[in-house]
Amino acid sequence: MERRRISIFGVTGSIGANTVDVVKTMGIENFDTVAVTGNANIAGLAEAARLLGAEIAVTADPSRLDALRDALAGTGIEAAAGAEAVVEAASRPIDWMMSAIVGAAGLRPTMAAIEQGATIGLANKETLVAAGSVVLAAIERHNARLLPVDSEHNAIFQIVSHETTPIERLLLTASGGPFRTWSMEQMAAASPQQAVAHPNWSMGARISIDSASMFNKALEMIEAGCLFDVTPDQVEVIVHPQSIIHSMIGYGDGSILAHLGPSDMRVAIGYALAWPERPELPVDRLDFGKLAKLDFEPPDDKRFPALRLAREVMSQGGLAPCILNAAHEIALDGFIAGQIGFLDMAGLVEDTISSLGGIGVAVSLDDVLAADAEGRRVARSLLERI
Ligand code: NAD
Ligand code: MG
Repeated sequence: MERRRISIFGVTGSIGANTVDVVKTMGIENFDTVAVTGNANIAGLAEAARLLGAEIAVTADPSRLDALRDALAGTGIEAAAGAEAVVEAASRPIDWMMSAIVGAAGLRPTMAAIEQGATIGLANKETLVAAGSVVLAAIERHNARLLPVDSEHNAIFQIVSHETTPIERLLLTASGGPFRTWSMEQMAAASPQQAVAHPNWSMGARISIDSASMFNKALEMIEAGCLFDVTPDQVEVIVHPQSIIHSMIGYGDGSILAHLGPSDMRVAIGYALAWPERPELPVDRLDFGKLAKLDFEPPDDKRFPALRLAREVMSQGGLAPCILNAAHEIALDGFIAGQIGFLDMAGLVEDTISSLGGIGVAVSLDDVLAADAEGRRVARSLLERI
């Protein structure tokens, strides 16, 4: 493989750390690391920057610039801070970017990398949920490339890379999260600590809670609609508690092709980093003798209304998914802060979407950023009334 210039956005997070691990496995000397970015964890950011020999390390938090400078003293690595510095770092020439900031904060840096024609390993699903059509048009215009890192979408991407037949149905698998078997009453009283305890995957706190509410799967349905040539009614969700099948595609002859593997994000990250090759990775190998069985059940739309909301905004189209994402980020903040209950999150999102009825179409990134801000404003004011 040719030597490549790479940047890792969100290097201090769960995906970021796994990306550093994959780069180590593939050989740090095979990459020139341009930028690494983080937020509050300055020690972790500086450590990754030193390890990879990055040109620049950026924290999104301007109040931490001095701490970052101190942590990088004597290394010759440039330090910068603030949201604009993160975007600027993304416009430095690279071949490949890991987009692993959490939330809509990842949108502008990801767009900046797209605008320079880079290949994007996309973990930050919020970029596509909020700005799908604008992002896809920019990819086309700048000859950039998106390689999905979300495990389900990476699984589907691995399958479609070998298939030219039109897709009949996409089956996104979902673990069901920690509340899969909980009653409505139990879920209503659930704490953030209980929601964060994912049964199979080790991930950042926000996506772990989103797995408990299935908002993660809702975002993934919208993401799948952007990435693959399917209509909303072709995207299905099936609960599969073991998380061994990472997703499936059904074709018109009745065949279903599935991707199986360990519940380890390094598989998807490695595929995106080595593509079109496949790396050797030190992950667990599946032992079918020990697996014994794979279970499946339909998702419960009543306990997990996020899935219905996803279907609704997908059929509305335009900026509706962007509003869903913005309202969901505010609802999640409210739940983590103890302001609202677990089940109130979906209600807040639904009320935000309906009170912004007649949502328009996005032509530019500014349209998306305006809708995102409006969605947050309305969701915040509704939150205060709960
Ligand atoms: P995380 O919380 O572990 O890490 C988030 C990263 O974003 C950190 O580096 C943090 O410093 C940075 N960050 C936070 N707020 C920021 C801001 N305002 N500006 C700039 N940077 C900021 O999250 P994660 O679990 O690694 O998830 C990252 C993204 O990948 C999310 O979009 C998530 O949905 C997606 N994803 C994660 C997994 C997983 O296994 N963790 C799987 C699939 C998709
Ligand atoms: Mg996923």
